[in-house]
Amino acid sequence: MLFHIAGGGPSGLYFAYLIKRSNPAYTVRVFEQNKPDVTFGFGVVLSGRALRFLSAGSPDVVERLKRRMEHWSDQHIVHRGERVVVDGSSYAAIERLTLLAELQGICKAAGVELHFEHRAAQASELADCDVLIGADGANSVVRDSHADAFGTRVHEYNNYYAWFGVERPFDAHTLTFKRVESGAFVGHHYRYKPAMSTFVAEVDQATWERAGMDAMSDDARRALTEQVFVDTLGGQALISNRSIWRRWRRVDNENWHVGNIVLIGDALRTAHPSIGSGTRLAMEDAIALWQAFQAEPDNVPAALRTYEQVRRPIRSKLNNAMELSVRWYEEMSRKMSLPPYPFAYDYLLRTGIMTAERLAHEAPDFMRRYRAQALVEQASS
Ligand SMILES: Cc1cc2nc3c(=O)[nH]c(=O)nc-3n(C[C@H](O)[C@H](O)[C@H](O)COP(=O)(O)OP(=O)(O)OC[C@H]3O[C@@H](n4cnc5c(N)ncnc54)[C@H](O)[C@@H]3O)c2cc1C
Repeated sequence: MLFHIAGGGPSGLYFAYLIKRSNPAYTVRVFEQNKPDVTFGFGVVLSGRALRFLSAGSPDVVERLKRRMEHWSDQHIVHRGERVVVDGSSYAAIERLTLLAELQGICKAAGVELHFEHRAAQASELADCDVLIGADGANSVVRDSHADAFGTRVHEYNNYYAWFGVERPFDAHTLTFKRVESGAFVGHHYRYKPAMSTFVAEVDQATWERAGMDAMSDDARRALTEQVFVDTLGGQALISNRSIWRRWRRVDNENWHVGNIVLIGDALRTAHPSIGSGTRLAMEDAIALWQAFQAEPDNVPAALRTYEQVRRPIRSKLNNAMELSVRWYEEMSRKMSLPPYPFAYDYLLRTGIMTAERLAHEAPDFMRRYRAQALVEQASS
């Protein structure tokens, strides 16, 4: 069998490795537009739970990745200058480039053919194969070449964000909310190397307009963000790597496969960074597609059907959570009238996946402090 994979991101590379490792006689080619050591963004965060899910593909690979990761427990939510600690979680973060380098390394060792600096302008350029996998990210050319057949839908949300780096190692996965004259900002920040952190900055639409960000250059927007978060950043500059301010676009598809072409990762369904799991979902799609080919090795249509049947319900559940999370951020300015603990509690329950009972079990210290603050508020009102 001959597999062509458009895109050497986490989903394309993980699929390539898994299918080649278990079927050495297959020919597996990855076509990536960039050089091996070029990417967008900085580090990505994965929860401990996400790492367990990814082990279903290859526990050895996940163990290898873990050694290159920064690990911490707890999430911090900073509101009105008060740091609320949410205990009981585990997180790990890795530089996106390191993740890609590790995946490229195992692909090469397994015998995957990696073609860098090879941009596909149309799906048809890569169509001479048994299976073509569109793993070419949110702006997928493979998908867009057959947008009608895939039933592609695009929806743009209201908030604006940009993905920066900063030379400052934060202790934990942190959300810092800032009220300024023009409105509300939030920074999502965490360290992904001993001395480096990711810093995703986000503003709602009203703030964007009131602060005049719509008329600014990206450099001026970065300078404004540095000012807003000057104490959080300890005066450090935000570093750009194609850090363009944009609105988040939800892309999804009615059909997951068309003929022998199938979509995985962001090409199939973008995942909003606020639930922090795009990389995980993309790599899980790769696992599900690989498992489908293990179950139906000689039958491409059956394998693609199995992939969709198994994976669609899981994706749909997370999609609902994502919608609710995005809406919460769109309303963050109003939510910020809550005191720190009720605010953090509201945030943690925003997707409907976390419940008060589960939180009491998983984050008992946080819940104790939340309840104590609620009692104080009640007494004083
Ligand atoms: C601001 C921001 C913060 C994020 N933070 C996190 C986080 O903390 N944790 C997390 O899990 N996820 C995060 N994500 C999401 C994550 O980056 C994506 O969900 C994930 O990278 C999807 O993987 P993928 O392999 O499907 O696509 P991508 O990683 O986008 O890879 C696609 C690859 O295809 C290549 N390509 C594109 N077009 C072509 C073409 N025509 N021909 C050849 N090659 C092509 C690209 O160069 C790229 O290498 C974040 C995303 C953003 C925007």
